[in-house]
Amino acid sequence: MDRYCVMGNPVEHSRSPWIHARFAELTGETLDYGRRLAPLDGFAEAVAAFRAEAERDGHAARGCNVTVPFKFQAAALARQLTPRAALAGAANVLSFRDDGIHGDNSDGIGLVADITRNAGVDLAARDILLLGAGGAGAGVLGPLIEAGAKRVVVANRTVPRAVELVRRHAALALRHGVALEAQAPDGLGGAFDVVVNATASSLAGDAAPVAASALKPGALAIDLMYGPAAAGFMAWAREHGAVPRDGLGMLVEQAAEAFDLWRGVRPPSARVLAELRGQLV
Ligand code: NAP
Repeated sequence: MDRYCVMGNPVEHSRSPWIHARFAELTGETLDYGRRLAPLDGFAEAVAAFRAEAERDGHAARGCNVTVPFKFQAAALARQLTPRAALAGAANVLSFRDDGIHGDNSDGIGLVADITRNAGVDLAARDILLLGAGGAGAGVLGPLIEAGAKRVVVANRTVPRAVELVRRHAALALRHGVALEAQAPDGLGGAFDVVVNATASSLAGDAAPVAASALKPGALAIDLMYGPAAAGFMAWAREHGAVPRDGLGMLVEQAAEAFDLWRGVRPPSARVLAELRGQLV
């Protein structure tokens, strides 16, 4: 049996085991996908232990998803990175291959797929505000640029992190003709068609890490969190005339990318997203 898992700290809340089990069921793939809590100071050791345990049991560990706070460490652990993971400096998908660990980042492509396919919002020529410059912000910036936005502003509480993220993506933005800049969240210029909350502010129960003037009327305001944690941001967006969305669609779409990468089969992500939403109401 091929084994996979999601590794993080905390990880007990993760919906990934359910999503991948459902993908496997619907595509006829045979695999085992679990959940592993890695110590905060022992990510690499936890990956090694997962692989060794599978081998001892006569199975094969094929890969893992990586969640908070290990995405930067996962990229450092990989022997090879896809260009998008290298640009992000963060990996949320590891594949265990004969020639070593390969790292990829499917967060951004998952977010773009959710916005464009599931929410039906075209990102071309739009003004986009990306709040946050941590692992999630780093992963989604490249694909947002590649989606053909007119302008992308990265705003982060710790401004130098936003500046550094923008610096790393400057060449990509130039190639795609996108105006890319870093700003302080409390000094934003203008309003945006799409606001992506990739900060952990919702975890703290805060409404939104930016003033409502950042929202154009009818803007899409998406929090990468989901469930009760996203409720404050979504209520704030609704109150200020925006269309709120949570991160559940991104979660399913980034998982579908990982499943396709590992198994070579595209799972029916829209169906699984609908089922998951049904469970959470
Ligand atoms: P991270 O690497 O720890 O980064 C956290 C970010 O949030 C940093 O930019 C940090 O700013 C900012 N922040 C934290 N608390 C804040 C507050 N109270 N007000 C304003 N900014 C605050 O975490 P991450 O990996 O980027 O994850 C961020 C969130 O996205 C998490 O909640 C995670 O669950 C979610 N996520 C969801 C998906 C999905 O599939 N739906 C995928 C990835 C991540 P500083 O730099 O100033 O500290």
